[in-house]
Amino acid sequence: MKKPLGFDHALKIISETTSPLPDRAYPLLEARGLVLSESLEAVSDMPSFDKSAVDGFAVRRTDVIKGHCLDVIEDVFAGDVASRQVASGEAVRIMTGAPVPAGADTVVMVETVRELPSETNRPQIEFMEEAPPGSNICHRGEDIAVGDELLSAKTCVKPEHIGILAGQGYVTLVCHRRPQVAALATGSELVPANQTPGEGQIRNSNSIALMSAVENLGAIGHDLGIALDQEATLREAIRRALTQDVVILSGGVSAGQRDLVPWALQEEGVEILFHHVAIKPGRPVLYGVRDATHVFGLPGNPVAAFVCFWMLVRPLLFQLMGRDPVESHPISAVWKGPNMTAFPLRRFIGVGWNETSNGAEVTPVPTRGSADLNSLARSEAFAVIAEDRVISPGSSVEVVRLQEY
Ligand code: AMP
Ligand code: MG
Repeated sequence: MKKPLGFDHALKIISETTSPLPDRAYPLLEARGLVLSESLEAVSDMPSFDKSAVDGFAVRRTDVIKGHCLDVIEDVFAGDVASRQVASGEAVRIMTGAPVPAGADTVVMVETVRELPSETNRPQIEFMEEAPPGSNICHRGEDIAVGDELLSAKTCVKPEHIGILAGQGYVTLVCHRRPQVAALATGSELVPANQTPGEGQIRNSNSIALMSAVENLGAIGHDLGIALDQEATLREAIRRALTQDVVILSGGVSAGQRDLVPWALQEEGVEILFHHVAIKPGRPVLYGVRDATHVFGLPGNPVAAFVCFWMLVRPLLFQLMGRDPVESHPISAVWKGPNMTAFPLRRFIGVGWNETSNGAEVTPVPTRGSADLNSLARSEAFAVIAEDRVISPGSSVEVVRLQEY
């Protein structure tokens, strides 16, 4: 049997054959989760005028003396502009967000003044406190000034960024485009997930699981259905899939007599860069390229397929989108599982994650093997046990969290 490639080496091959996709302009809302391919500058000051931070009265600071009274000459609401300057002895009633009138350098909060009963039809206020520290004015450009770098290239666009950019009048963002990903299930035992399997048949659950994982990352999935373990059909389906940026096949990559995927890929011009990686589950996984298309052959086993997706396909999709693979920031936790003897493959074990005052702990989720998707679904992370490592309760292990991004 062929000696499997080390996991780190497999990741290196993927990363060396991958670069960010070209960019495209996306409407602001559609850019969430995508990565900017250029930095963006502020085109207007924020705020764009001196505005009141509170509901109160715009005055001259030197007029704010406890017991002193001022005439209220005008009311200014958000969206209004005062008709005249504020002179000494005068105040303008102002609401949060309204422009501070010229002449005023302070807004006193409505809670700190008393409105006097008016006999002359001329409203007046009296200060009940000395001038508080701070002017309650948000000055023009104090948050963002024209020309400031708003977002740097390589920023992954979050809702907060979209808010900032909308405030600046941006309507489109130039980002690395979304990868187009084809999922192709192989196996003569498979029927579409919405059909009832006959004897010896099973539903194709991999394609839909992989598609949803792909879409979760912001890539676009194309379900190419099922190809039978039969030379001509398989090659035909592969040919159709190779028009996309990424092809994810499942099944047919092991050592069975009908495992035709490696052969069929080669026949269709795919250069296989690795086949078999020293990981468990997922050992038979395969990766190759044809022109700009990246091709993965994942084992059909649903858990193995998911582990390979998470550990190998996901970093590739991130790289295509211009993102750093999340796994470049390793985290560790205390192993609360049983003794584990040395094993020649790197193991990915589904675990529960528990934050304690002494740090994070992980406990393996009981599993009946690599078809047990139920167990995987209950896992919050993978504990990564390096090749030939012996661990016991209390050992520190590397962890990859299974979280939404
Ligand atoms: P294979 O990698 O083709 O040898 O398949 C390994 C196991 O995974 C077999 O039990 C298959 O029936 C199962 N399997 C293969 N493809 C799928 C799929 N698309 N959905 C669910 N199970 C699958
Ligand atoms: Mg099969």
